Order: sequence, then structure tokens, then C-alpha cells
Amino acid sequence: RTAHFPAVKTLEDFNLDHLPSLRRDVLPHLSTSTFVAKAENVILLGPPGIGKTHLAIGLGVRATQAGHSVLFDTASNWIARLAAAHHGNRLEAELKKIRRYKLIIIDEVGYIPFDQDAAKLFFQLIASRYEQGSVMVTSNLPFGRWGETFSDDVVAAAMIDRVVHHAEVLTLTGDSYRTRQRRNLLRDQ
Ligand code: ADP
Ligand code: MG
Repeated sequence: RTAHFPAVKTLEDFNLDHLPSLRRDVLPHLSTSTFVAKAENVILLGPPGIGKTHLAIGLGVRATQAGHSVLFDTASNWIARLAAAHHGNRLEAELKKIRRYKLIIIDEVGYIPFDQDAAKLFFQLIASRYEQGSVMVTSNLPFGRWGETFSDDVVAAAMIDRVVHHAEVLTLTGDSYRTRQRRNLLRDQ
């Protein structure tokens, strides 16, 4: 079972002291992976370096350990995959194939804007999993700005509506962990 995680990150390595505003019960709850069994979603929002990708991988690892099939990729790569299928007239088959995964992780929504065709493909991915399979999404943008990244307010609103219906939305706030580490390094010299 290959999840294609881009790095080795675990929940054990995640320093919760850096996120004092995060509800303390959230990660223990999500790490049980019952959200995957229930086809619920997880949305991780927050600025660059706050730990979204780390948490997504850590939770994804837990889900695989619980026996769920997981597939991780960036939003751009998900779109590329769907666009290729669409051009080959096999989008439905591809969506069906993706539905075999109990959890898909879509990292970095918001860094690279999508044109309207890409936004529609993304919508179809979300819609095809609605109440069928879990989606975990990370984004540097609050929902109010997803219309910008999808070049279409209506499609973005319809997508958000579906994705948040059964979801844990974690809005992470604070400094970049990378910046903090650099600052500590400089201070300790
Ligand atoms: P984001 O995806 O939000 O931009 P990342 O998850 O890539 O941020 O985190 C940036 C770097 O900082 C990564 O190397 C990650 O492992 C580390 N990191 C972020 N937050 C924490 C944390 N709370 N505890 C330990 N490492 C962290
Ligand atoms: Mg990231």
C-alpha cells in the first residue's frame, strides 16, 4: 500500500506547544482514524510553515497503520492526473479508481491558481467522494479566498459546501515553524 508521502513526518515529532490555540482533543481524536471509517474530511488551514503538510502526513500515516488505503499528492498533481484522464475520455473511470482509496490527501490548495477547467475537475473530485471517501485538504488560504485560486466563486462555494459538510476544520495560527527554528538558531549562536 503506497501512499506517496513526500517526507517522513510523524505525529510523534509534532510539537504541539507551537500551536497553543489548537484544541487539545483534536489530534488524539483524528489520529484514531475514525474519520476515515466514517468518510469524513479534514481541512487544515493556515499560513506557510505552520505545519499543515506535517500534520497531513502524520495523520495519513496513522490512517495507513489503521489499515486504510491513502493517497497523498499536491493539488497541482491531482489536477494534472484528472486533466489527463479527462483528455483521454476516462475521467469517470479515474474518479472511480480514486474512490478505492479511503483517504486522499490534497496538499497545497491555494499556492498555484487553477483555471476554470481545472476548478471544475477539482469540484468533480470532491463531489465524487462526498459521503463516500475521506478527503484531507491543506491550504494557506481561508475559505473566503478559495474563489480566487479556483478562478470561479460559484464552483469554489459549491466545493466548500460539500467538503465542509462532514469535516473537522483546523485553522492553525501562529509563526512559521521554519522561521522560528531559524530564529532560535541565530539566538543560540
Ligand atoms: P506547511 O505545510 O504549513 O507550510 P510544514 O508542515 O511543511 O508547513 O512545516 C514546515 C517545517 O516545519 C517542516 O519541516 C515541519 O516538519 C516542521 N514543523 C512545522 N510545525 C511543526 C511542529 N509543530 N512541530 C515540529 N515540526 C514542525
Ligand atoms: Mg505544506
